[in-house]
Amino acid sequence: MLSMGKEKYLLSILSKLEKRYGKDLHTELKSRTDVDLFVAVFLSPQCTDKQVNNVTTILFKKYKSFEDYSTADYATLKRDLSGLNYYKTKARHLRHAANIILRDFNGKVPRTLAELMALPGVGRKVGNVVLNEMYGINEGIAVDTHCARVSRRLGFSRSESPYKIEMALMAITPKRKRGEVSNLFIALGRDTCSAINRKCGACVLKKMCPSRILP
Ligand code: SF4
Repeated sequence: MLSMGKEKYLLSILSKLEKRYGKDLHTELKSRTDVDLFVAVFLSPQCTDKQVNNVTTILFKKYKSFEDYSTADYATLKRDLSGLNYYKTKARHLRHAANIILRDFNGKVPRTLAELMALPGVGRKVGNVVLNEMYGINEGIAVDTHCARVSRRLGFSRSESPYKIEMALMAITPKRKRGEVSNLFIALGRDTCSAINRKCGACVLKKMCPSRILP
């Protein structure tokens, strides 16, 4: 059941953030096809979007299909991903995940969180982002470092655990707004509510945020 007080507070925050950042926000990871999109999101944990985009600019010219990834030589793929953190594990998991997608899903990216999370190297955040960006499906809420920090500062959770923060947000977010919560909190976290040197004076939430620091 939704907690109406907190839901109202959240909706009022979302309305202000929509006016500031727009309604049609998407990942900053670059892709041209569903295969590219899946791979970019798959490679994103523990990396910045810039790092991923630098690597995929070259990667996507070489690998265009799940067949390309599944049959890739491990040493070569590892080298092609070497600009990323945890590239060895990601290379191993990506080949394996591509194989499973070809074998069990007819080459199409799965459409449920459970199926996505059964793939090697796919956690909740990656699964949620893939579903939202590719299919407009919001089974959950993608909680990255920005979304987590902003959620804590706005008082939605005290936890450091992305899973607990996601569950706290899910309890008060109408289903149609789940994708927006993540995208708007990320936009605010990048633009204004940064980890160090938050700019509360310029923040559209400064009148309602319990963590504001104003001069
Ligand atoms: S007022 Fe400050 S702490 Fe609160 S959301 Fe805005 S930038 Fe973050």
